[in-house]
Amino acid sequence: MDCLFCKIAAGEIPSKKVYEDDLVYAFYDIDPQAPTHFLVIPKQHIASAAAVNAENAAVVGHCFEVIAKVTKELGIESFRVVSNIGESAGQTVFHLHFHVLAGRDMTWPPG
Ligand code: AMP
Ligand code: ZN
Repeated sequence: MDCLFCKIAAGEIPSKKVYEDDLVYAFYDIDPQAPTHFLVIPKQHIASAAAVNAENAAVVGHCFEVIAKVTKELGIESFRVVSNIGESAGQTVFHLHFHVLAGRDMTWPPG
């Protein structure tokens, strides 16, 4: 499948790695929207959070375990996790990813 994040997870396209294990890959966003901005993705291709089901849901929990662990290791206490689903919500890469943003005050509601 021609998927940018599948290629990044497989090491076929370079990225700045934050964390990796058998199930999950995390890397810094190429166009950061906050002083710290990285993405956490399952290595398995899931198109978006709308494609989560009983068979693949465990890796989503694991993504959040990784988010908690990596932010702790980086000394980040306050941060925002965002997942855009569909074009209107701003999704541009159709492989499930969680944005982790930190290092500045965030506004609410998001735009
Ligand atoms: P979204 O718009 O929510 O689908 O998020 C996709 C994110 O991927 C954007 O924040 C992009 O800046 C980021 N991105 C696109 N290509 C790359 C890349 N090669 N390496 C790192 N981040 C990327
Ligand atoms: Zn993919």
